[in-house]
Amino acid sequence: MVKSIVEFFKNLPSKQCVKCGSLIEEQHESYIHTCDECTEVHDI
Ligand SMILES: [Zn+2]
Repeated sequence: MVKSIVEFFKNLPSKQCVKCGSLIEEQHESYIHTCDECTEVHDI
């Protein structure tokens, strides 16, 4: 079964906001589970 690179990316699990359900494009920060609008800013 040979799949194209497009199929490969299609099968990648897309990150989704746990609050509103919108897709998260910024995958470089893997610890984020919410989108920018739902992410609470904490200054510790
Ligand atoms: Zn959200």
